[in-house]
Amino acid sequence: MPIRLLSSEVSSQIAAGEVVERPASVVKELTENSLDAGAKNISISIEDAGRALVEIADDGHGIPAGELELAASRHATSKLVQSDDLFHIRTLGFRGEALASIGSVSHMTITSRIESAKEGARLRVNGGKSEKVEKVGAPKGTVVRVENLFYNVPARLKFLKTDTTERRAIDSLVTRYALAYPQVRFKIMDGRQVTLQTSGDGDRRSILASLYGVEVAKQMLEVMASEEGMTLTGFISPVSLTRSNRKEITFFINGRWVQEISLNSALLQAYHTLLMVGRYPLTALFLDMAPEDVDVNVHPTKAEVRFRAQDKVFSFVQRSVRKALLAYTPVPSVSPQLWGSRSVPSEPRTVGIDWSIAHDEELSASGERPSVGGDGSPDTNYQVSVGSGQSSQAEGQKAFSTGVPLLRLIGQIGATYLVAEGPDGLYLIDQHAAHERVLFEKLMAQHEHKSIPSQSLLAPEIVTLPPQSSKTLLEQLQFLNRFGFEVEEFGTNTFQVRAMPTLFAGGSPSMALKALVEDFEEDESPLQAEVEARLAARVCKRLAVKAGQALTSEEQRSLLNDLESCQSPRTCPHGRPTMIHLTVDMLERQFGRRGAR
Ligand code: ADP
Ligand code: MG
Repeated sequence: MPIRLLSSEVSSQIAAGEVVERPASVVKELTENSLDAGAKNISISIEDAGRALVEIADDGHGIPAGELELAASRHATSKLVQSDDLFHIRTLGFRGEALASIGSVSHMTITSRIESAKEGARLRVNGGKSEKVEKVGAPKGTVVRVENLFYNVPARLKFLKTDTTERRAIDSLVTRYALAYPQVRFKIMDGRQVTLQTSGDGDRRSILASLYGVEVAKQMLEVMASEEGMTLTGFISPVSLTRSNRKEITFFINGRWVQEISLNSALLQAYHTLLMVGRYPLTALFLDMAPEDVDVNVHPTKAEVRFRAQDKVFSFVQRSVRKALLAYTPVPSVSPQLWGSRSVPSEPRTVGIDWSIAHDEELSASGERPSVGGDGSPDTNYQVSVGSGQSSQAEGQKAFSTGVPLLRLIGQIGATYLVAEGPDGLYLIDQHAAHERVLFEKLMAQHEHKSIPSQSLLAPEIVTLPPQSSKTLLEQLQFLNRFGFEVEEFGTNTFQVRAMPTLFAGGSPSMALKALVEDFEEDESPLQAEVEARLAARVCKRLAVKAGQALTSEEQRSLLNDLESCQSPRTCPHGRPTMIHLTVDMLERQFGRRGAR
């Protein structure tokens, strides 16, 4: 299709928004354009973490010389014509905004040649102003060179993170696209160094290895399922392989990388009770469905989508992942050898085996386990796996997610642990981890009800932070204020704390602020709620009672009571256990009472 200006009717229906906020967003938009152009080779060069240069060269169909200038104007696209088209988009782009936006905040040069043209054409755009198109010799395809990004928007420049972070964002973005398009060869040059190169041979697992390392890639489990026009393929981590945040949860829908809350929850539900609280799987999942069934035009960076049949999609994802997971997780200690395996074993097991008596050797002997899914895998296999899976699910439940019974406090040892008795044995409780959990759940509950009681400090406290930290803190001020703190900037790198949540009464304000900025991961998850939970967890950790702190018996008792009423009392918000349980049974065995009676 030729590039055309969208009618104002269509363009007004597009969820507009600035799409260029960092070098990685330039890489994203240009890579998507190359993929839309059917490129088989995409080479990305960056210099100075993308600030000085982002260049993307492809061998796609190119842009005709006569359309070059239009390509760089706002709302000019070859990918859609009428507003109706918005409802069945098959391309990654459709808004006709990217080139215009990028050109307005950089020195951009587009060089392109279509197959049938003898010569290529080149257009320079400087801060939004186009020069005349010139003819140049060029290979078939398109090269977009973006220099001096944000040279004319110093405010944006100031918000860029460290070079390492910006580089990492680019690498992880491109690697994910490489995973989604394993038939395309991707290459990243960072200065003179090649930081990523894929073969384009279609093998996703080898790309996984460049993302996570060979060890992790080996362990990832394959998912392959289809149902009612939807297919789900890709990889999920076994329950033994987790991360403390959701950053490694990757979903693609129809070839588009999305951060879709509903898919994340479907996934997490599939893992429910199998993971410790606060631990998250790694996934690279690719969901495909008819373009009509998913609306991609709801979010400025197209990171969120809307499904026509939300529930159906949710349940499909949840069931398919769960199936794959349980099929691969009969006994937690076994890690199936999956490296390079695609095949279904030649001899499917027979139905009706009592899997519960299977030994580890048998499991590993089965070697290559098949992909489990709605298609392809023998039913017999699936049935066998389910039975064993359920038992491991039950174990998981017992270990991680149940509450605690009423406990009778016995005392404190080493000013660090509480000792308590329950109907089923002895409990040793880590007072710090327990208090963290208690504070965290209370704070989050108050936050949910939008009523975090706050208490003014008698004398406001002045806190001075290193420059980098105070920059980070400035970005977190909103969070603080929503969470019952009253903090304001008070001169360079200095902050004044006037009030704290009542929950933290007596805690040190400077500790709280420092907790927010220390090892702050700069590209935190885009899910606001989750960022908040994580920040809250960090503050709670800092302000919780420490190990080595003697507690009065009143304090001990109330900590225990509070812990009992927590939803997930057995782990701290960071996933560490809060308690060790010595069962009566275990005690009896240790003392040799079993059988003696
Ligand atoms: P969109 O991708 O939403 O259409 P862009 O501003 O990203 O908008 O691109 C505008 C147009 O320029 C595209 O519709 C496409 O026709 C053309 N174009 C951009 N990049 C390329 C490329 N790498 N190869 C071929 N055509 C391209
Ligand atoms: Mg585009």
